[in-house]
Amino acid sequence: MSRRALLQYLELLNQSGIRQLFITPSQMPDPDDKGALLDSLAQQYADCQKCPLSTGRIKLVYGEGNPDARLMLIGEGPGDNENQTGRPFVGAAGQLLDKMLAAIQIKRAEIYITNIVKCRPPGNRNPSNEERLACMPYLVEQINIIRPRIILVMGLVAAQSILGSTETLSNLRQRQHSFMGIPVFVSYHPAALLRNPNWKRPAWEDLQALQKVYESMI
Ligand code: SF4
Repeated sequence: MSRRALLQYLELLNQSGIRQLFITPSQMPDPDDKGALLDSLAQQYADCQKCPLSTGRIKLVYGEGNPDARLMLIGEGPGDNENQTGRPFVGAAGQLLDKMLAAIQIKRAEIYITNIVKCRPPGNRNPSNEERLACMPYLVEQINIIRPRIILVMGLVAAQSILGSTETLSNLRQRQHSFMGIPVFVSYHPAALLRNPNWKRPAWEDLQALQKVYESMI
């Protein structure tokens, strides 16, 4: 690895609030290989104990998808299926998400999907402010590596965490926001749509607005 590349890699970690490394330089992935870098970081954090959510963790759900994605999806946190598999948005909510993406001609394989917290809150409760803050450096790091062109935040907890807002989801959707200089769209979480089908129509409107901006970037 060149000195310049190494400095870029360390700066990226520093921007994300990471001050310690537990791997030797010879083990560092090439910072230009985003996929290898994300895989390496996921392995490093697998035993994270930074917040109480570690106690109920079977598998840390770091995130998955295209490391060069133009679109990043951010949900609230893993549920039971995700905790078991280590993969985000699986189960019924994940299947609905796949259908929603297909409706706007986006394949799951072309985007990157992650959550605000990487470990499952017990009983699917909302993650506390402390838990969200503890996990936020990992998300910032992922965004710094992937540098998506658009972020879609799904669900109220995720939207409020990203935007530092206390507004309702109704107020936050159908407006374009910004996080780390990246345009942010807000919509319903697929799990919420399964509980309340009346929200499917407004969710469809959100996706159409997202599709217009996404297609203009391709
Ligand atoms: S939720 Fe995040 S900060 Fe908390 S233990 Fe899991 S990885 Fe660590």
